[in-house]
Amino acid sequence: MGESGRVVMITGGSRGIGRAVAFRFAEEKPSMIILHYDPDDSAASDTVTKLSELGIQAAAYKLDVSSYKDVEALFKNVLSRFGKVDVLVNNAGITRDSLLMRMTEDDWDTVLRVNLKSVFNCTQVVIRSMIKQRGGRIVNISSVVGQIGNPGQANYAASKAGIMGFTKTIAREVAGRGITVNAVAPGFINTEMTAGLPDKIKQYFLQQIPLARMGEPEDVAEAVYWLCSDAARYITGQVIHVSGGLFM
Ligand code: NAP
Repeated sequence: MGESGRVVMITGGSRGIGRAVAFRFAEEKPSMIILHYDPDDSAASDTVTKLSELGIQAAAYKLDVSSYKDVEALFKNVLSRFGKVDVLVNNAGITRDSLLMRMTEDDWDTVLRVNLKSVFNCTQVVIRSMIKQRGGRIVNISSVVGQIGNPGQANYAASKAGIMGFTKTIAREVAGRGITVNAVAPGFINTEMTAGLPDKIKQYFLQQIPLARMGEPEDVAEAVYWLCSDAARYITGQVIHVSGGLFM
């Protein structure tokens, strides 16, 4: 186990925001569990190698977090290897954008499964052990789009708004057990998810951001880390927006 003794599990920790969260935790030398899905696991192995170079005990597991059965099996594995999970960051997410008139049933189902059902899956399997140890931190990565909507993202916005409702409900359910549950809602962040957007869309977003730039994954990681620190012990059921003021 790492020096701090905390065991941190991050879904989608192989790249983008999840990877930045992993590196933000690095200074306290936790044990780190990275979940990812791409069969080409070069991003995950690169992340684990770099974390190991920093002296962190890190492991990557490849699975589809939207499968309850697979998440349950993974967690058994994690418990036998690490003994517990103190911090869960539900970060894995995807987009399948199109206007409602053109959105297929598969686009809807896939995004809701990966972005929202996965949060139920991972939270439910982890929370039992957090309740037993009477403590834990859960941070769910939502999106500004779940709050304000965005044309072409009905599935994504619904999944991210769902995360906000889920977060507040579970925060109420487990507050008495010393567990905090919060959400972070990023705005427009510089990762592979946004890299492919047409310049026109990027310009449109940039014009609406008071701080007049895209966010970096590290900007989001800072808020996640803080919510998991002792400094945030009296904060639960909140949605913290990290969007340069895009939503206020
Ligand atoms: P990203 O760079 O595309 O990374 C997504 C991560 O999720 C990858 O590690 C990916 O693993 C993992 N993942 C995807 N599907 C998975 C599945 N079925 N099972 C397990 N892991 C899976 O995305 P990002 O921009 O960092 O976004 C991270 C989170 O922030 C997402 O929830 C996203 O919705 C949210 N967010 C992002 C922005 C933004 O502007 N970037 C804004 C608001 C909210 P593989 O690489 O192995 O597939």
